[in-house]
Amino acid sequence: MTGQANPFESLQSQIDEAAAYLDVDDDVLERLKHPERVLETNLTIERDDGSLERFKAFRSQFNGDRGPYKGGIRYHPEVNRDEVKALSGWMVYKCATVDIPYGGGKGGIVVNPSDYSEAELERLTRAFAKELRPLVGEDRDIPAPDVNTGQREMNWIKDTYETLENTTEPGVVTGKNLASGGSEGRVEATGRSTVIAAREAFDYLEKDLEDATVAVQGYGNAGWIAAKLIDEMGATVVAASDSSGGIYNADGFDPVAAKEHKNETGSIVGYEESEEELTNEDVLTLDVDLLIPAALENAIDADLAEDVSADVVSEAANGPLTPEADAILAEDDVFVIPDILANAGGVTVSYFEWVQNRQRFYWSEEKVNEELEDHIVDAFDALVETIEENDIQNPRTAAYVVAIERVAGAFEEAGSFP
Ligand code: GLU
Repeated sequence: MTGQANPFESLQSQIDEAAAYLDVDDDVLERLKHPERVLETNLTIERDDGSLERFKAFRSQFNGDRGPYKGGIRYHPEVNRDEVKALSGWMVYKCATVDIPYGGGKGGIVVNPSDYSEAELERLTRAFAKELRPLVGEDRDIPAPDVNTGQREMNWIKDTYETLENTTEPGVVTGKNLASGGSEGRVEATGRSTVIAAREAFDYLEKDLEDATVAVQGYGNAGWIAAKLIDEMGATVVAASDSSGGIYNADGFDPVAAKEHKNETGSIVGYEESEEELTNEDVLTLDVDLLIPAALENAIDADLAEDVSADVVSEAANGPLTPEADAILAEDDVFVIPDILANAGGVTVSYFEWVQNRQRFYWSEEKVNEELEDHIVDAFDALVETIEENDIQNPRTAAYVVAIERVAGAFEEAGSFP
């Protein structure tokens, strides 16, 4: 993280930017800028050596006007209350952008999972699931994976909830593995929507994706899948980074082999096809056609934004640009596909997983990918229409215009209680 912007303030300023184009009352907007509730809890678990350790954890339920709260749980040493509040708000507008019937939530535990054994992580996850039990449910709040969590943690959450409730309710959490009621295509979905959105943007800008060079910052689940899929679409991935540094090859490299290297050694650095080692910042400012930031918030601040040379940015991460960086890129005519559209594939396939869980009827991977394609393309078309109708320069602002209209519409139709 280079920038120090408070993500919750970033979210609020993104809403304010869009408000200028919207016919929504200020008092309604005020409501849409704050979470409905935030759980802050302390989890105490036993370490393998018998000692006890306390961990702080959060769950923010931002808005439920369009459906149950929905969003991931991250494990990271820098998780904090404002970050979780922001991430839960981004989920509200993300679900509205792709028009799936959810509100937004997000959770996190302040922990570096690599410092703990699998058994300790299981106890920690189950302790959190027990705390969450009264708040979650398939019609209430549905957690999912986020940074440093995945199928394993979701399976534990499902099992804890179902055991305590004495029921079967696989739709209480999404991102599970197939045997626990997961969906085909869920693991790849975030990376997939990132590249579908990029493909649509290139088409809109009349640029050829097959001639494009690509840099990917972050080589976790979203980043590496995006690299693999954009390579399959014919673009050339020339650079990538992870938390240890970056790699570069002007002629491109094989993203799958780079991932295998990372699996074996812990990092992409040192991968044999790399001609040059780059820093994380070099990767973000490389002269490429498409940049995919796929790590954490605030990766690009105002200083770095001045040096960004890509024509299109597709945000696989949540909140990778500070608001100042965002303004600079818009001014420079860089087409930034906002996180709430670009990475919305993850929650969209979570929605499909939840639908399948509720129907006890499971889809093929082909059907999942077709439905995902439709949702992302429709969302991109709505974005372009809003950009053109309102003459909006920053695509993020247009996405918020679409999303806020949908959320405010749901609130206004329902009225408020009490
Ligand atoms: N954590 C992902 C996101 O930020 C997925 C959330 C979900 O599937 O509910 O969109």
